[in-house]
Amino acid sequence: MNEFAPYAVREANSRGRKIAETAPNTRGEFQRDRDRIIHSNAFRRLEYKTQVFVNHEGDLFRTRLTHSIEVAQIARSIARRLRLNEDLAEAISLAHDLGHTPFGHAGQDALNACMKPYGGFEHNLQSLRVVDMLEERYAEFDGLNLCFETREGILKHCSADNAARLGELGERFLHNRQPSLEAQIANLADEIAYNNHDVDDGLRSGLITLEQLAAVPLVAMHLQEVRRAHPDLPERRAVHETVRRMINALVTDLIQQSESNIAARQPATLEDVRSAPAMIFFSPEMRERQRALKNFLHTHLYRHYRVMRMGIKAQRIISDLFGVFMADGRLLPPQFQPPVGLAERDRARAVADYIAGMTDRYAIREHRRIFAVEEIPASF
Ligand code: MG
Repeated sequence: MNEFAPYAVREANSRGRKIAETAPNTRGEFQRDRDRIIHSNAFRRLEYKTQVFVNHEGDLFRTRLTHSIEVAQIARSIARRLRLNEDLAEAISLAHDLGHTPFGHAGQDALNACMKPYGGFEHNLQSLRVVDMLEERYAEFDGLNLCFETREGILKHCSADNAARLGELGERFLHNRQPSLEAQIANLADEIAYNNHDVDDGLRSGLITLEQLAAVPLVAMHLQEVRRAHPDLPERRAVHETVRRMINALVTDLIQQSESNIAARQPATLEDVRSAPAMIFFSPEMRERQRALKNFLHTHLYRHYRVMRMGIKAQRIISDLFGVFMADGRLLPPQFQPPVGLAERDRARAVADYIAGMTDRYAIREHRRIFAVEEIPASF
């Protein structure tokens, strides 16, 4: 195993946990963070939460769980190559989507709209709430009591108002400082993962076609190479081979560009990383290709009428549930009922926590249990 770069996050330069704990005896502190994340309820729920395609649309589509595993895989490869803390990059990646609502972005937008009068809803902040407060597994503390650097990586962005509220975790947003390189890697690994799997899932769903994608330079160059080298390859396999090459090209570009950024800045310590501009990013050419792919996905996949229809349903389910639970907290399952006399703003937050924790199918069922007039089976 190669040694960490001097500016990597290590236990020695970590700001540690909010509540001090005895050091683990068989693993490192960041391994412990990763293990706590994997054992959390929120992590298991990721299996039934989706970004683009709702869970019942097909078994082969990515879920937030498989997405998070793909992000972790990419982040680990990059972190190891750059001699950074692979365990930390993995922990951040696995936790980054824990606060996501059901129904992906449509769900997040709907819940944010409901929460507008009460401080809004932001999935990033919610991921932090999950690991800081909402998980109830340990005797000594609420949440998972993760290390500062893991929590910092989960909070990719936040508004100035929220940053001011968040104390030391929000400081960097107010003073324009960077998080660790490990956090910067997890952030871009997320982008690499979803752009590529959305191409794959988009094609599988039939909502976008290879002919359309041939107009996107990043796809076209790799697809042409594959077709040239393997003219008889069946289409599905050519797609996989293309996506594989795209991921490899993005990861390689990110590593090379970041290596040269680090060489130019010469950070000596983690503190140097925090006070310098970001050092993990793509080359300008690759950024442009990545942007073109993103634009394509926005226009042709995320705004496809069938995706939009599911989005409308998601909005309706979430705003209906939010409305009834706010109107009468006694409709919530007892363990989620806010205490009597709680201020409206806090009541709204408790309802948002409950809804955000739902999986796609749980939200659909809960909606039916409350609103369906026809008889539903007792086991439902
Ligand atoms: Mg993500």
